[in-house]
Amino acid sequence: MFRTRRPRHTATVEAVAEIAPRLARITLGGPGMSAFRCDEPTQWVKLFVTDPLDGQTIGRAYTVRRMHPSAPRMDIDVVLHGNGPAARWAEAARPGQEVSFGGPRGSFRPDLDAGFYLLAGDESAQPAVLTIAENLPAGMRGAVYLEVAGPEARTEVALPAGLDVVWVHRAGGVKGEALREAVLKAPVPRQRVAAWVAGESGAVRDIRRHFLEGLGLDRHRAYAKGYWKRDEPDHRDPLASD
Ligand SMILES: Cc1cc2nc3c(=O)[nH]c(=O)nc-3n(C[C@H](O)[C@H](O)[C@H](O)COP(=O)(O)OP(=O)(O)OC[C@H]3O[C@@H](n4cnc5c(N)ncnc54)[C@H](O)[C@@H]3O)c2cc1C
Repeated sequence: MFRTRRPRHTATVEAVAEIAPRLARITLGGPGMSAFRCDEPTQWVKLFVTDPLDGQTIGRAYTVRRMHPSAPRMDIDVVLHGNGPAARWAEAARPGQEVSFGGPRGSFRPDLDAGFYLLAGDESAQPAVLTIAENLPAGMRGAVYLEVAGPEARTEVALPAGLDVVWVHRAGGVKGEALREAVLKAPVPRQRVAAWVAGESGAVRDIRRHFLEGLGLDRHRAYAKGYWKRDEPDHRDPLASD
């Protein structure tokens, strides 16, 4: 099978802000991005960065949180988990640095027959979840489960009417467990539910099973993707379609 080659772009780090403890918003821009278009929720880029520890260049997936109206310019929100080359790069990132990236990849088209959306993710999937929530058809009802370390780690979230945010606090627990527990107990209507989850692979696997077997959703209404996996660098989810 052949993979389409994605265009490569170069960008300059224009700003770095800590939007929550251990979560950095990095604004990338510059003329090297002039051919870059990104207009669907959940779209992501493969960012090629140099690990400050060993000088090796690696590629990792990051969601485009927002394209600025003054494009070419975009925000990505990076979890500073401290344990991998991309997280280390983000922690050291400063305005003026150059990076390259490929993409965008991925897509999300809202299910117009759905009457209720159940969305869930940890911090790595928070950008993707929020791009979906912000772009659902007007009047859509739904619940947005976001796992974070605790109340201090909540970010500013402004969602359309009809969507409720449920903050799920780890309170010192292992990443993914609180989200799994909360989503497995989440109240949902009996019909016309669509669901989307991403985050730590083990938690996502259980939540995927709940969508299909617990809630009885059709596969096309139950998207689930492991965005990272505990103790596994550069994890690729074999079950996800993009
Ligand atoms: C489509 C897609 C979109 C994504 N969007 C985002 C995004 O917008 N923001 C974001 O921060 N991440 C996002 N991710 C997840 C990100 O690509 C991974 O977390 C990636 O592993 C980070 O690379 P790294 O070099 O820091 O760590 P790696 O070298 O991949 O892993 C090193 C170690 O760190 C651990 N690790 C990796 N990620 C985390 C984490 N989040 N928390 C705790 N431990 C971790 C691994 O288990 C491993 O033990 C996305 C992933 C996918 C597939």
